[in-house]
Amino acid sequence: MDKLAIVVPCYNEEEMLHITAKTLRDVLDNLVKKQKIAEDSFVLFVNDGSKDRTWELIEEEHEAHPVRIRGVKLAGNTGHQYALTAGLLTAMDRSDVTISIDADLQDDVSVIEEMIDKFHAGSDIVYGVRNDRSTDSFFKRVTAQGFYRLMAGMGVKSIYNHADFRLMSRRAVEQLSRYGETNLFLRGIVPLIGYQTDCVYYQRRERVAGESKYPLKKMLALAFNGITSFSIKPITLITWLGVLIVTGSICAAAYALISYFTGNVVQGWTSLILSIWFIGGVQLLAVGLVGQYIGKIYMEVKHRPRYNIEKILES
Ligand code: UDP
Ligand code: MG
Repeated sequence: MDKLAIVVPCYNEEEMLHITAKTLRDVLDNLVKKQKIAEDSFVLFVNDGSKDRTWELIEEEHEAHPVRIRGVKLAGNTGHQYALTAGLLTAMDRSDVTISIDADLQDDVSVIEEMIDKFHAGSDIVYGVRNDRSTDSFFKRVTAQGFYRLMAGMGVKSIYNHADFRLMSRRAVEQLSRYGETNLFLRGIVPLIGYQTDCVYYQRRERVAGESKYPLKKMLALAFNGITSFSIKPITLITWLGVLIVTGSICAAAYALISYFTGNVVQGWTSLILSIWFIGGVQLLAVGLVGQYIGKIYMEVKHRPRYNIEKILES
């Protein structure tokens, strides 16, 4: 029987903790009863440097339910993506399959069973996908959609309307651990792992208690981080802008020369306008070109694995 670990990053979630722990314990108990997961499956709370009583509550829960509830305490606040990674890597050696979910229960826990079924049917990664955003505010909906579009435009492969509610088998997490980069954007990396994937669909709910830990500032940071860690397209855009301006300056040269010879210009205007355009364009082009190399270095220093082997047939 496969041992399941549910990984829950928590930052200042004292209002939620007991509710979340109880809900997830019930989910596990139910799956154990149905003989879909191992007896000693557990919930792993990751305390991301909370400033409130979150960690004390995790300790209380662990004391009351030593098998079902476990905890990891990070030394400080590192952000959702890192807390989640810490949890996944900690759970990796202690379980056969992991499911990551937010502490606020906005993601529907009732599809966890379906995720496990799909895992048993052979998928290594199962994405939780929201098919309805009506509980999100208009603002959140629009910004989130813009975000997915922008990511796609920049060439980052990510699953539309999937946040970090997902099942990963142990070997998928092991592959994830081979991605050496410090700037982690899990939603972009996981699709790179390969393996068989599947999706389950659910409606996103309201946060049960507490408030969003993702203010606009953190959302923008996530978007910016997502793009700059996966794509050097912005640099390429600058290079092309340089090319465009240099080309433009050649046209401007023709215009300026004609004006010069027809004689209706102020003295010195021609040389001035030509140098402004031309030098500007050349500079952009040069910056873009240097940027291309920096982009390459950036991609190299990530030390990403070049391939992930799925199977080897040998005698
Ligand atoms: N979180 C975290 N560290 C942070 C911010 C958030 O571990 O610095 C956790 C938080 O406790 C929650 C999850 O990440 O479990 C998602 O946060 P939230 O629900 O506030 O985001 P939203 O759903 O509003 O996008
Ligand atoms: Mg939330």
